[in-house]
Amino acid sequence: MDDNGLSAEVLLALLEWQRDAGVDMALDEGPHDHFAEGANAALTAAQAEAAPRRAPVAAPASAPAFAAPAYPAPRPALLAPEQAVVSAREAAEGARTLAELRAAMEAFDGCALKTSAARLVFSDGNPQARVMLVGEAPGREEDEQGLPFVGKSGQLLNRMLAAIGLDRTSVYISNVIPWRPPGNRTPTPQELAICLPFIARHIALAAPDILLCIGAPSAQTLLGQRDGILRLRGQWFDYDAGGRTIPALASLHPAYLLRQPAHKKLAWRDLRALDEKLRGLAKKPAGD
Ligand code: URA
Repeated sequence: MDDNGLSAEVLLALLEWQRDAGVDMALDEGPHDHFAEGANAALTAAQAEAAPRRAPVAAPASAPAFAAPAYPAPRPALLAPEQAVVSAREAAEGARTLAELRAAMEAFDGCALKTSAARLVFSDGNPQARVMLVGEAPGREEDEQGLPFVGKSGQLLNRMLAAIGLDRTSVYISNVIPWRPPGNRTPTPQELAICLPFIARHIALAAPDILLCIGAPSAQTLLGQRDGILRLRGQWFDYDAGGRTIPALASLHPAYLLRQPAHKKLAWRDLRALDEKLRGLAKKPAGD
């Protein structure tokens, strides 16, 4: 227990919550109630206004000079969002291989999520696979390991894929957002717009036969749709993978299925549709 009667578990949870929200430095030793400070400042200003005017008193010569605390230097300014989209597009289009794309993304500074994430989460699985899955964004485990879908929802995803005979040797996996959003919040439309050129190029370079968009941010961003995922799921769309049109299916995110297990039957229908489509399509030429 601390002085406020909070247990170690509660304190750890609070610390973790702050870390997830992007807090990465302490500005002072004690907490500040900025609401109370704001109210006090307003009160003091009103009191000063009401008080009789007096000549200012000179500070004593011995008054200690105010020393600014030594904070870390601010991070380099990020690009404006429109500039960031243009810069992401140029960087992505310049990449001729997946390795070059990864390097371009590592070097990209136009997305603020990069500053709070531990690392880039590029992909997992087999880049030669016929099926490419694109999720939303890395969570904590993915951020720690640098691989997509390795946490709880990744484990459910593995079981879902196994149900139609697929695993990470037969699928390729990435996300629309390659850096973990603080606290696993949903990426903003601006973040999605900035990262879209990277995932679009990623899909074009991997050149799968089928795209599976899992979750609303992936389906809406990649397929240019506005409907919610419960309307989009189960529908096939044409996706332009760098000049080659491939079928793309929208489906439910395993994290959603963990919260709504009754909807697993809908995901199962989607998986069967994926399996059927895969069997019906001509195989991707070897070495492509
Ligand atoms: N959820 C996602 O959408 N992607 C991951 O990589 C992990 C969880």
